[in-house]
Amino acid sequence: MRLQGKIALVIGAASGIGYAVAELFAREGSTVIASDITTPAQGYPAGIEAAELDVTSEDAWAQIVSGIIAKHSRLDVLVNNAGIIAYEPLHELEVKAWDRMIAVDQTGVFLGMCEAARAMRGRNPGSIINISSIWGNAGVAGAHSYQAAKGAVRNMSKNAALTYVGAGIRVNSLHPGFIHTPLTDAQAPDLNTVVIASTPMKRGGTPMEIAYGALYLASDESSFVTGTELVIDGGYLAQ
Ligand code: NAP
Repeated sequence: MRLQGKIALVIGAASGIGYAVAELFAREGSTVIASDITTPAQGYPAGIEAAELDVTSEDAWAQIVSGIIAKHSRLDVLVNNAGIIAYEPLHELEVKAWDRMIAVDQTGVFLGMCEAARAMRGRNPGSIINISSIWGNAGVAGAHSYQAAKGAVRNMSKNAALTYVGAGIRVNSLHPGFIHTPLTDAQAPDLNTVVIASTPMKRGGTPMEIAYGALYLASDESSFVTGTELVIDGGYLAQ
């Protein structure tokens, strides 16, 4: 019961890492509002509240957070996890594809942090966890727009951490390595083989291995932790 009594909003919760985070947070005593543009085929575990949200919509963000405040009086934790991936190298990237990536993976995080900061400031301390990636820290060929967005999420988290440190809002980024999810299952098998072979542990991680990192950052156990980058990657970035 490491999150007993907390109110947590998990974004991109219908699948992969977000689903594991929602499941684990609920198991650890949190009230969980699980949100996505889609609903999980298997439904959410009992007790989890489902809500629809497209992270690119400012109005939808305002609505979901005000609904949580109206119902639960506060918001303690936001996990900004929704994301898409694309592999185009710079010279093949069209502006439309660039705009879509930035809208979901970067602006979505910006809008979520704005609403959470407004809800948490002056009301209660809170924890914001932004899911970046190892590609937010290290370079990789191709995937230009994804790297741009994930690198920005890393810096945006540090900026918000310092801006709101006096308001008791902690902001951290979490950087997964290769994780087995529907997102990576849909990728070219050859690509996945290369990334796993480059991972010192020689395997991909599970969504739950990331969820445990999010649990630490959401809980009061991490009360002295803000502006940091929690890397969970089987040793990839240690190389
Ligand atoms: P996933 O299984 O595809 O889950 C992401 C969820 O976000 C999906 O349900 C997706 O819906 C949803 N989503 C997409 N666009 C959205 C929008 N505009 N508004 C709200 N929700 C939206 O992927 P995952 O692997 O768990 O990834 C979760 C996060 O971890 C992402 O930010 C990803 O970049 C990051 N990450 C993943 C890995 C990895 O190896 N898996 C590594 C590093 C970082 P749809 O399915 O309908 O698109």
